[in-house]
Amino acid sequence: MKFGGTSVATLPRWQNIRELVASRRAEGARVLVVVSALTGITDALKQMCAQEDKGKRVEAARAIAQRHYDLLDHMQLAVPATLAERLSELAMLAEDGPGAMGELAWAALVQAHGELMSSALGAAFLSHAGLPTEWLDARDCLAAVALPNQNERTKLLSAMVEARPDPALNARLAELGEVFITQGFIAREAQGRTVLLGRGGSDTSASYFGALLKAQRVEIWTDVAGMFTANPRQVPGARLLQRLDYEEAQEIASTGAKVLHPRCLSPLREPRVPMLIKDTNRPELEGTVIGPEVREHAPSVKAISARKGITLVSMESVGMWQQVGFLADVFAQFKQHGLSVDLIGSAETNVTVSLDPTENLLDSDAIAALASDLAKVCRVKVIAPCAAITLVGRGMRSMLHTLSGVLAEFGQIRVHLISQSSNNLNLTFVVDENVVDDLLPHLHELLIAAGALRTDDSALFGPSWQALYGSGEVAAPAASWWRTAERERLLRLGAERTPRYVYHLPTVRQQARELKSLGAVDRLHYAVKANTHPAILKALAEEGFGFECVSPGELKAVLAAVPESAPLLFTPNFAPRADYEWALTTRATISLDALYQLENWGELFRGREIVLRVDLGRGLGHHEKVRTGGSGSKFGLPVELVDSFLRLADAHGVIVRGLHAHLGSGILDEGHWGEVYGQLASLAERIGSVAFLDIGGGLGVPSHPGEARLDIAALDRVLRSVKAAYPHYQLWMEPGRYLVADAGVLLARVTQQKGKGSWRYLGVDTGMNSLIRPALYEAWHEIVNLTRLDEPATGLFQVVGPICESGDVLGTDRRLPEAQEGDVVLVAQAGAYGKVMSSPYNMRDEAEEVILD
Ligand code: ADP
Ligand code: ASP
Ligand code: MG
Repeated sequence: MKFGGTSVATLPRWQNIRELVASRRAEGARVLVVVSALTGITDALKQMCAQEDKGKRVEAARAIAQRHYDLLDHMQLAVPATLAERLSELAMLAEDGPGAMGELAWAALVQAHGELMSSALGAAFLSHAGLPTEWLDARDCLAAVALPNQNERTKLLSAMVEARPDPALNARLAELGEVFITQGFIAREAQGRTVLLGRGGSDTSASYFGALLKAQRVEIWTDVAGMFTANPRQVPGARLLQRLDYEEAQEIASTGAKVLHPRCLSPLREPRVPMLIKDTNRPELEGTVIGPEVREHAPSVKAISARKGITLVSMESVGMWQQVGFLADVFAQFKQHGLSVDLIGSAETNVTVSLDPTENLLDSDAIAALASDLAKVCRVKVIAPCAAITLVGRGMRSMLHTLSGVLAEFGQIRVHLISQSSNNLNLTFVVDENVVDDLLPHLHELLIAAGALRTDDSALFGPSWQALYGSGEVAAPAASWWRTAERERLLRLGAERTPRYVYHLPTVRQQARELKSLGAVDRLHYAVKANTHPAILKALAEEGFGFECVSPGELKAVLAAVPESAPLLFTPNFAPRADYEWALTTRATISLDALYQLENWGELFRGREIVLRVDLGRGLGHHEKVRTGGSGSKFGLPVELVDSFLRLADAHGVIVRGLHAHLGSGILDEGHWGEVYGQLASLAERIGSVAFLDIGGGLGVPSHPGEARLDIAALDRVLRSVKAAYPHYQLWMEPGRYLVADAGVLLARVTQQKGKGSWRYLGVDTGMNSLIRPALYEAWHEIVNLTRLDEPATGLFQVVGPICESGDVLGTDRRLPEAQEGDVVLVAQAGAYGKVMSSPYNMRDEAEEVILD
């Protein structure tokens, strides 16, 4: 667990650290804490090094010491001996100056004191707070390697470590204790001198330790809940990236996202140690998981980042054209000066390269020396200060067509260089530094609007920074009826009998009314597959909803429960002929989604008005298995077959009255339905007979803490703007989950517990037989011990059911109070796709359903 500068600077932060470390201990893990210096201390030490006046150096060292005394005061701790030693050493270094040690080695040792001091302070605090913690000198574990072409500066201030799994270190630590604290940022080289890993290098220390110890996980605890699609301080609308693979994360970090040190991912790749980025202050937020591979449904730009302080070196030579060895000659100069080149652009008579300040210790002397040597072989122009703006995403080349609006933006400004990385992960533009701050938020917005940054993919893109942190607009905890007003009743119901589904009708009505506020929508159908309980069907009929059914069984359930007048839709998929035959005897409007039905059973539909379900060529949703569009899904008629369908319809006297598309579920991006609406409308223009457009459902309900709810007013604005262009079509929608998910809970009772290695299992009396969503979709449902709702959640459990399948897990890594047999456990948000997807598997009793009104 690595804690950055702001995470270690105050007493409340250290209290958080204590709790977080304790929780990992409770999971049975041994913990190595890696800390940065307190915020501002590395800068202060660096300034102290630049100070030639001894008196001022000593004064600076005193001020730095005072910061630590102040924090200890707050902690009500005496100065521990380990810290006192460091402080007197620092005072001496200030007093003596570089001396025989040499300027660079002295500066490295001085700056190393930031981390040496913060870790000494942390060891004292944690031990005092009941968590015995061993202080470890990172320099004894991390050995810097000498690399060819390193100069003295990079060797001492930007060193690298080769971190291979080291079982001996692991064994040594195992003998010493369970919790350790050590320093980020520092290592030791072969001659025994202290070296630094480069600014921000504590992340990389954590990764080196993660690789050496082959850790279960490296956790980076900082002041934001993960890696975002842009620097959130600059772009408040930036979205949390929930999952990234090593390569993409590496690319985002090395193109400017300061949240991770650019070198901190490569040590983890080979040992395949996953990394998690979390907010020390808001540990309940999900954060970013970085690991070996991430499946995604469509290529997307993942982030836009910017690096300032870039220097461009432009080299002109008329004689260079096809001249053998010209590039070798110029690059030899860069090597000589210890400068690493980042981007390259070349032409007949010009080569331009960029120098990145994070990889190079750039100063005006270094550049001037380089330029004067280069001048011997070509004409040199140095362009600075510049900034590099980078779009990152796997498969950039396949996304170019989506970027036209974004590229147009660069027409307004001077672009010095464009470079596309050969790993196909990034596209970079070098521009003048002063335009970047204004440009970035704008580009981020354009990327989303253009569909290049596919924020509708809710498995990858989490909430925006603003939604998580800004203006207190954090999503309210999902449907709290069970937490408050109905808790006692639920406890009684659970004590009587489990498993039980309990549905809260007032919540269903409330959701229905919210959707009815969508002024642009002419007709709402409830997709009954989500929950077919008659009381729910009745309540929604009373709210004026129509019903969308996918089987004769569902149609019969609706016909039995609701009045004659409620509109019905029948939208089956790969159903037998008999289903259509029967449905045609009801009042349902029938939808077709293939050529087959008219080709083979055309007579059935003669003279009928039908709906055509089309596939717009892509799918969306919170999991691969809920995406219902694109050639990988079995739903809908591909758009390119629409004309053939229309010919068949004509031949059989069938009238296409409606067009329908539904791309998937769990979508939390309002823009999505506007897109579908627009596409269907323009298709309808070609058909003539169409009177209504059904843009499907899929309205997401946030499940994870911090996810923002759909903004229904914003959705209405999106829909109204499309409707203004196509007022002649009625607009239909068919939400399911949105109406019922939060209205239902599953009650179960604790059966048994078991500890296995570092894992603790909490058994309840029903599992995937009642609720299959976690197993099928990796869906996340909040789980609480309703009996002990007010007790502190001190244990970390895997909540499992009694079914003979290893996938029978309702929730992983859940923080819950210590439980007892018979406690009532509640699984939230189970009103949709709960009971309806349950099964008699293992011949266990099915959950009973109870209605609260
Ligand atoms: P620490 O001191 O914990 O190491 P840093 O300041 O080094 O923290 O890194 C966290 C900061 O990185 C955030 O506060 C944010 O301002 C910045 N940052 C820049 N780009 C990004 C991004 N794409 N995602 C998240 N944070 C970013
Ligand atoms: N303290 C060092 C710095 O400020 C290293 C770090 O915080 O990651 O650069
Ligand atoms: Mg950092």
